[in-house]
Amino acid sequence: MIDFSRYLSLKIGSILPVSIIDDYAYDKNLRIIGFGYNLLVSPQAKNLAILSDRFDYIKEGLGFIEIGASTRSTKAYKYFLDNDLGGLEFIGSLPGSIGGLVKMNAGMKEFEIKNTLDSVCIDGDWISIEDLDFSYRRTSINGVIFAARFKKIKGFNQKLLDLFSQMRKVQPKTLSCGSCFKNPVGDYAGRLIEAVGMKGFYINGVGFSDKHANFLVNVSRGIADYDSAIKVIELANKKVFDNFGIEMEKEVIILE
Ligand SMILES: Cc1cc2nc3c(=O)[nH]c(=O)nc-3n(C[C@H](O)[C@H](O)[C@H](O)COP(=O)(O)OP(=O)(O)OC[C@H]3O[C@@H](n4cnc5c(N)ncnc54)[C@H](O)[C@@H]3O)c2cc1C
Repeated sequence: MIDFSRYLSLKIGSILPVSIIDDYAYDKNLRIIGFGYNLLVSPQAKNLAILSDRFDYIKEGLGFIEIGASTRSTKAYKYFLDNDLGGLEFIGSLPGSIGGLVKMNAGMKEFEIKNTLDSVCIDGDWISIEDLDFSYRRTSINGVIFAARFKKIKGFNQKLLDLFSQMRKVQPKTLSCGSCFKNPVGDYAGRLIEAVGMKGFYINGVGFSDKHANFLVNVSRGIADYDSAIKVIELANKKVFDNFGIEMEKEVIILE
């Protein structure tokens, strides 16, 4: 059992059964979750699973670093820092598991997971990045990611850290799941949400931060629930569509 009101970074949810995947031969009906930094889970959600700690490891190969999918981003960041390796400097600022980061092609501006990725172990098979589609916060990966190999690039770039901490300064410190919507081409979800008057708008304490309009935050101290989060997300989507004719795509993953 997992209490999602504690597990998810947004701290909204119920207590649900969750299986543990420990092997490539897992039940294919299961729906994998990572560390819950980009998730909303319905009280009716079924067949949820997490990866076992067996996949929390970092090891070196010839020209690559292999990282298990249940390894925390900050642990991988520290490994790269300690070993003077480049390409993943931004993940020190990105909460989540390596599996979640790869699946989401997580990133900050032009710094994205795909840039340093070499190959991904999906359901036990190693697939080269060349054979996978990666774009802004999207990948073609459907199975469970068990591990990922990153190119071994000498030289951790300390100078980038200032840039990432500057970017973080404009983000709210309250409970959140990060960006709620992807930025539409040529525009910003935050600008659109603000333009329809929903910056700082909450239903039962869940809504769009008054500091950063695209951040879905929970300021309720315990009363916000899944339905309120869905209502506020749908309302923003509708208002933006009605006013601008733009259908925003959700970045937050909703497991119904
Ligand atoms: C304060 C804050 C700031 C954030 N800032 C950013 C940012 O700047 N840029 C950015 O890109 N993201 C950002 N995020 C979102 C979050 O950091 C990323 O989406 C991260 O990749 C989530 O990882 P997770 O392990 O928590 O995945 P989860 O949220 O648990 O899951 C996300 C998705 O990944 C899938 N998944 C997880 N593990 C696996 C696996 N092993 N195999 C296959 N699929 C899997 C899940 O099914 C789900 O679809 C932010 C979040 C917060 C709370």
